[in-house]
Amino acid sequence: MSISISGVSKLYGEQKALDEVSFEISTGEVVGFLGPNGAGKSTMMKIITCYLPPDGGKAEVCGRNVMEDSIEVRKRVGYLPEHNPLYLDMYVKEFLDFVGGIHKIKNRRDRVNEMIDLVGLGREQHKKIGALSKGYRQRVGLAQAMIHNPEVLILDEPTSGLDPNQLVEIRDLITQIGESKTVMLSTHIMQEVEALCSRVIIINQGNIVADAPTQELQKMTGRKTKTITVEFAQDVTASALAKIENISNVKELPDGSFSLTSNGNVDPRKAISIWAVQNDVLILTLREDEVSLEDVFKQLTTSK
Ligand code: ADP
Ligand code: MG
Repeated sequence: MSISISGVSKLYGEQKALDEVSFEISTGEVVGFLGPNGAGKSTMMKIITCYLPPDGGKAEVCGRNVMEDSIEVRKRVGYLPEHNPLYLDMYVKEFLDFVGGIHKIKNRRDRVNEMIDLVGLGREQHKKIGALSKGYRQRVGLAQAMIHNPEVLILDEPTSGLDPNQLVEIRDLITQIGESKTVMLSTHIMQEVEALCSRVIIINQGNIVADAPTQELQKMTGRKTKTITVEFAQDVTASALAKIENISNVKELPDGSFSLTSNGNVDPRKAISIWAVQNDVLILTLREDEVSLEDVFKQLTTSK
């Protein structure tokens, strides 16, 4: 087990940021840690990386307790903190060499060059960090997190504030890293989890509200209806469609197609096809809408 969290709590004064949180992450997993702002993601990550002590419960990384064995934990964990704090006046190589020194890495120069290659900083390696774009700064952050070859990587919102191209590049890099390491990354972007993570843990107000393989999450809404999008080659009226068996609601969409909601959890596609044949109209599109992960997230993290 790479990460084992059991009943961990954290208080900031009166405020409970984490309320007896428990979960485990196995070696090699890439897990998304998802939650709205203020949910407790960064706090949990600071505890795992020994930046903050828990007020209760037990946190272990690679079988070592963050309180009793913090140096051993730090050797095994790479951490990219939220907002990626870097020394902007340092040169890329100088900074990585400095971090390598903290970790007492042997053959530091070689290792720094290896990291520069790995994260794709070749062309920027002689620049000052302050002169780099945000995407390249993020690469420096990832390089410093991995320079001591840790087993576990904790990435706190690694793609926030990146433009769409940088986003894709950093996601690709994380995918590549995830092939050889245990990764826990926080985000409040659902698509990021879909793109990168095999499992998702959702936290809200200091409590875990879901912990499931990404693909299974969609089933967690307990939605009682199905929604079908259908487009016809001929003009069709909403009132005619409403008469189809098991259809409870019909909405015409701006592009001329229709969104049909079924009564209960039955699939009305067969009935729609039969209706089309009987009425001599041609179906161009007939698609069941998936429950989006966004919906699941909203449902699980909106207080009622
Ligand atoms: P997230 O990373 O999910 O946005 P955080 O772990 O940063 O959430 O914060 C969880 C809660 O704890 C928030 O309500 C936040 O305001 C509060 N909090 C975080 N850090 C501190 C701190 N140093 N002092 C007081 N409150 C804090
Ligand atoms: Mg945070």
